[in-house]
Amino acid sequence: MTVATINLPRILRVGAGASAELADTLRTLGLSKPFLVTDPFMRQCGYAERVQELLAVAGMAVGLFGDCVPDPTTDSVNAALASVRSGDYDCVVALGGGSSLDTAKAIAVLAEHGGSMRDYKVPHQVDSGLPIIAIPTTAGTGSEVTRVAVITDTETEEKMLCMGLGLMPVAALVDFELTLTMPYRLTADTGIDSLCHALEAFISRRANPFTDSVARTAMCSIYANIRTACDEPDNRAAREAMMLAATQGGIAFANASVTLIHGMSRPIGARYHVPHGLSNAMLLPEVTAWSVRQAPVRYAHCARYMGLSDPSDSDAMACAKLVQALRELTLDLQVPGPRAYGIDEKDWFSSLDLMASQALASGSPANNPRIPNADEIVSLYRRIW
Ligand code: NAD
Repeated sequence: MTVATINLPRILRVGAGASAELADTLRTLGLSKPFLVTDPFMRQCGYAERVQELLAVAGMAVGLFGDCVPDPTTDSVNAALASVRSGDYDCVVALGGGSSLDTAKAIAVLAEHGGSMRDYKVPHQVDSGLPIIAIPTTAGTGSEVTRVAVITDTETEEKMLCMGLGLMPVAALVDFELTLTMPYRLTADTGIDSLCHALEAFISRRANPFTDSVARTAMCSIYANIRTACDEPDNRAAREAMMLAATQGGIAFANASVTLIHGMSRPIGARYHVPHGLSNAMLLPEVTAWSVRQAPVRYAHCARYMGLSDPSDSDAMACAKLVQALRELTLDLQVPGPRAYGIDEKDWFSSLDLMASQALASGSPANNPRIPNADEIVSLYRRIW
C-alpha cells in the first residue's frame, strides 16, 4: 500500500457566519496585526468594511490592499508590497475569490522573503511566508485549502504555478453567506470549476482513498445543487451545499492533483482571458468523453455518485450517461464554446500547437487516466471550438 500525504489548513471554520469569527481565529493563532487583501467589489459591497470593523472592535489595527485584479499579475502583487512592508504585520487575511486569495498568498511570501514571484514558480517549493487566513467569497477555486497560487507574469504573460506549504492558509473561514451575492455567470463558472476539481481528483492517477472520499461527496453535492444555486441565488441550502463542496473539491485536488481539463484550461485563460471556471467548463464534457475509455470503472463510479445511472447499468453505459449529463449541464448553464465567447477564429487555430505544448509542460495531463500527446490535445482544442 502506498502512503498518501495530505496537507490541510490548521483551522477550518465552516458554516453561516464563519467569517465573523476572524478575530477569534487570529487570537487562537497568536496573531494580532493583520494585513487585509481584497478586491474593489469586496470594498463596494461592504464585505471588506465589515471585516475591518470586526477587527477594530477586537482592538486590532488592520492594513489594507483593496485592488486585487482577476487572474492576478506580478504587477498587481508588487503594487501591494510597499504598503505591507511599511507596517509591522504578522499575517495576511485574504477576502474574495481565488484571485484575491492567490494575491494574498503571493504577498505573504514576498513580504517575508523578498524577490519576485518569478523566483518562486515551480519547481521551486515555497516553504514559508507570513501566515495566511483565507475567507473565500466564491464557491469555486478551493484556494483556501490549497498550497498553490497562480500568478501571471506581466512581462511574459505566463500563468505561473507556485506551490509549497508556505502558500497553504493556516486557517480558512468558509462562510456560504458571502456567496449569496454571486451573479448567475460567476455561480455557474465557479461551480463547474469545483466540479472539475472533484472529478479530476477522483480520476487522477494520483488519487488516494482520502481524496476519493471528499471528491465523491463534493461531486454528488455540486451536481445536485448547481442549477438551483444559479437559478435561485437566494437559496441558502443550495449556496451552503456548493460552498462546502468547493472546499471539499479543493482538498481533493490539492492532494490528488488536477488532470487534463485544468492542463488544457490554463493556456486558454492566459491567452484569451477567459475566466478560469468558464474555460474549464468549455472543456469538461469533451475531455471526459475522450478520457473515459482508459478508466471506465472510475468514471462509472462518478456517474453513480452523481445519481446519473441505474445500479443495473454496465460501466460503459454509466460512462455514456456521465458524458451526456455533462453536455446537458454545460448547455443548461449556457457555457459558450470559444467561438461563441468571441475568440478570433484565426488566432485560435494558429495558437493550438503553442497551447498544447503549454498544457503538456504544466504536468497536469500526465495525471489523466488517458495520457494525451500534443496532437491529441490539439484535436481536443479543435473539437471544442
Ligand atoms: P475571481 O476571484 O477572479 O473573481 C471574479 C470576480 O467575481 C471578481 O470581480 C470578484 O470581485 C467577483 N466576486 C467574488 N466574490 C463575489 C461575490 N460573493 N459576489 C459577487 N461577486 C464576487 O474568481 P474565482 O473564480 O474565485 O478565482 C479565479 C482565480 O483563482 C484564477 O486566477 C485561478 O487561476 C485561481 N485559482 C487558484 C487556485 C488555487 O488553488 N490557488 C485553484 C483554482 C483557481
